[in-house]
Amino acid sequence: MMQKQCLECGEKIVGRIDKKFCTDYCRNSYNNKVNKDSKNLIRNTNNRLRKNYKVLSELNQSGKTKITKTKLLHQNFDFNLFTSIYTTKTGNVYYYIYDQGYLGLENDFYLLIKKD
Ligand SMILES: [Zn+2]
Repeated sequence: MMQKQCLECGEKIVGRIDKKFCTDYCRNSYNNKVNKDSKNLIRNTNNRLRKNYKVLSELNQSGKTKITKTKLLHQNFDFNLFTSIYTTKTGNVYYYIYDQGYLGLENDFYLLIKKD
């Protein structure tokens, strides 16, 4: 027979086989923690996206600019964070953070482009 343990405190659970927590208290505090963690994750990701967006907006004031990768990296631009990808018929991949996009060019250059 399998002995179940409370996910929150580790106490042995008696009763129904599908029970995950020993008490309502443990269930509530476990669920609160999970919600808090996912909220933190979302908030941190949003903050990093906002920072990325700000970097692109500041570097691309004209709506279309060519810059070096170094310049983006100096602004702590995070290439892992974007909101959408657009691939053209010719195979160019544009990464967008909201309406600010960038396209990798040759020799570590990037084209910054704003959606209109
Ligand atoms: Zn418990």
